[in-house]
Amino acid sequence: MSIINKNRFIKQHIELYGKELFLKFSPALTIKNELLKNSSLSLYESLVEDCVKCKIGNSRKNTVFGSGDKDADLFIVGEAPGEYEEDANRPFVGKAGKLLDKILKAIGFNRNKNVYITNILKCKTPNNRDPLRSEINNCNSYLLKQIELIKPKIIVALGKVSGKSLLNKDLSLDEMRSNFHEFNSVPLKVTYHPVTLLNDYSLKKNAWEDFQFVRDFINKS
Ligand code: URA
Repeated sequence: MSIINKNRFIKQHIELYGKELFLKFSPALTIKNELLKNSSLSLYESLVEDCVKCKIGNSRKNTVFGSGDKDADLFIVGEAPGEYEEDANRPFVGKAGKLLDKILKAIGFNRNKNVYITNILKCKTPNNRDPLRSEINNCNSYLLKQIELIKPKIIVALGKVSGKSLLNKDLSLDEMRSNFHEFNSVPLKVTYHPVTLLNDYSLKKNAWEDFQFVRDFINKS
């Protein structure tokens, strides 16, 4: 099936049966897991490109699905794309992204190897306002599918909005940081958003401890 036909098939399936997708393949057809994962992620990316579940779907320039290693152990979740990300069609490419790259390098990772980066929302919000609960809910199924397909060892939520959305609890960042959590049975660590670190250098030490913890967790599991 071509990508376009697969897309059409999935859209029809959603219209008929709802959001849960059940892809059936003939047993005679052996499709390598990697190919399946890549094409499934591409399909979800194109569903996101067409998504207008929220009002912001009508005002966006581009969607930002996520980027990086599809076999990543480390799955990073920010808040929502900003202007640079929307233009580049990639998450975390602005100033905050440069800092994130430095942090990843410091723990021996990089955004294209063993790391996948995405956001809670796949669309920029007007004036970069915080995501609405309805927008978070509408976008949630895409994030769930990304996690289900990539199967990371750990999720790192960057900042309060991301942490609160994943935990579905109204906690302070300090409360979220001080515990190790789970999201859909995947270990979850909440830490500072790079923008916060850019504005307050005194938090860097704590962030460094968080990322060392993440590195050690991945290395020993
Ligand atoms: N801030 C985020 O939360 N995500 C991005 O992709 C860029 C900035």
